[in-house]
Amino acid sequence: MKIAIAGIATECCTFSPWTNKYEDFRIVIGDDADFFEMYPYMSKYEGIEWTATLVARATPGGPVDPEAYDSLKADMLERLKAGGPYDGVYLDMHGAMNVLGRDDAEGDWYTAVREVVGEDCLLSASYDLHGNVSERIMQTLDIITGYRTAPHIDYMETRERACDLLIRCLNEGIRPQKAFIKIPVGLPGERTSTEWFPGDEIYAQIPGLIDGEKVMDVTMQVGYIWADEPRMTACAIALGQDEAAIQAAAETLALSYWDHRADFQFGVPAMPIADCIEAAMQDDVQPVFISDSGDNPTAGGVGDVPVFLAEALRIQPPDLIYASIPDAAAVAKCVEAGIGGTVTVEVGGKMDPWHGQPVELTGTVTKILEEPGNTQVVVTSGGVQAILTEKRTPFRDHHFYALGIDPEEHKIVVVKIGYLVPELKRLANKAYLALSPGAVNQDIVNLTYKRINRPCYPLDPDMSWSPSVQMF
Ligand SMILES: [Zn+2]
Repeated sequence: MKIAIAGIATECCTFSPWTNKYEDFRIVIGDDADFFEMYPYMSKYEGIEWTATLVARATPGGPVDPEAYDSLKADMLERLKAGGPYDGVYLDMHGAMNVLGRDDAEGDWYTAVREVVGEDCLLSASYDLHGNVSERIMQTLDIITGYRTAPHIDYMETRERACDLLIRCLNEGIRPQKAFIKIPVGLPGERTSTEWFPGDEIYAQIPGLIDGEKVMDVTMQVGYIWADEPRMTACAIALGQDEAAIQAAAETLALSYWDHRADFQFGVPAMPIADCIEAAMQDDVQPVFISDSGDNPTAGGVGDVPVFLAEALRIQPPDLIYASIPDAAAVAKCVEAGIGGTVTVEVGGKMDPWHGQPVELTGTVTKILEEPGNTQVVVTSGGVQAILTEKRTPFRDHHFYALGIDPEEHKIVVVKIGYLVPELKRLANKAYLALSPGAVNQDIVNLTYKRINRPCYPLDPDMSWSPSVQMF
């Protein structure tokens, strides 16, 4: 049995001025020795000849530069053509890519793969639950399965499930039927986490809806709301060998999501920036984490909007760590000044001038971490320690430790993120979500949508809806 692996995974905010370029992708190709380290579970399969083509991933950001996309696609297709024919293709995806000026990027990727491998080959894709699924995608793929957790602790299980389903279908000669229900609800990930109600209850239904035969798999997609594309939608998907059973499973999930549409809330208190800082200063525990959510680079924000930093410098809490602003010019100036040097730098607001202008930061350079391609510095200004990086850097615990900062020793730690990922949540004794400006700000109803399908909750709060199943 011969199976090819191909994929492209990123999440693209169409409200962002930042474009993801070719060099923003980490590209792994078939010749790379570490290709299969991405899929440790593959060693369990026997009798399969895997053909690694190309898997590209980029930190979420703005739309992908069309030339970069075309080049990656051409590279993948060339490798795919060189190795065929195949019984199946595993597609390692995210599902919320946007190529500047084009729609349904993943649909285009699958269509191109299908043209090479032919109609008999089975295509199986793994998805982030924040992917937007189109009819073309449902038509072109044979199998699609998405994460069941947000934060996404089941990313590897999901890849494995996509491969398990593919191999089982090939072994047993099954081409699953697919039920697809679009749910006209657009909600941010910060409200729809699976760690609290109602996301936890909705996703907890999934295993019970799968019997392995009639219903082989079920996926609930929250979708990605910061993409002003016609395909933007939540959806329920069921795959299997019994049309009525998969329709019923998809309907159960879709109705449960719809019925709870008004119940989705932030997991922590969500307030304007200054209110979060004031509240954290009053808390008698530490560290208190604050998410600078509007500019969260892991959701597609650019990451250099300095509005929160400006507020922190104005309020001057006694002990606040700010992570982080990418600004290569400011970092270079700080390195030149050296440890102990005094600097005045204009930081941020350069990559994303739409959501905040540069801020003047005067302080002492207190840390320098020379890292190839991504040197990082800390500028201390009163009680505020601002971390500046050369490149966009979504901060995790290890980034703090590398800089010699132990978050647990500080009162307030600000990170450009939405809900806290497990490694940061573990450190936080309390958390707030700042409703800050940026390309992925939480004020969904005031985003200037032009192209998504309406009506859509919560933009059209009084709309009515009943599920309609599309079969593929
Ligand atoms: Zn996601």
